[in-house]
Amino acid sequence: MGRPFLDYLDDSGEIYECRRCSACLTSIKLLVSKAFRGATGTAYLFKHVINVYLDKQDVRDMTTGRHMVRDVYCTNCNEKVGWFYDMAYKKDQEYKEGNYILEKALIKERKSFSDGAALRLSTSSSSSTDNDKDDITV
Ligand SMILES: [Zn+2]
Repeated sequence: MGRPFLDYLDDSGEIYECRRCSACLTSIKLLVSKAFRGATGTAYLFKHVINVYLDKQDVRDMTTGRHMVRDVYCTNCNEKVGWFYDMAYKKDQEYKEGNYILEKALIKERKSFSDGAALRLSTSSSSSTDNDKDDITV
């Protein structure tokens, strides 16, 4: 019952879900960086995300330069959850290509499936001051 057409991550660590519909999106093992910034605030970079679809390509000027990106939407509820890097125009930003950004305000963290599905509020003081990775979409 519920979400039979969705994929699930077989993971014992923390997972990230769509805040609106709780579809499973990705896991902490796929997390690359928490030092990003989106329209809603803090954003995370992930190597891979499931249960999402991509919008058409769009060239955007961000704080770290020009990128070709696509908006990322939850397959289940069609809510925008972040964006995907198709291409970076600057050499030193190429590590982001093929990776996904999920905005923290649009997702939620869950400890694990074996944890009684208890929602966990993020209490960790993520005091990242690493600002040179920030990306801002307009
Ligand atoms: Zn959703």
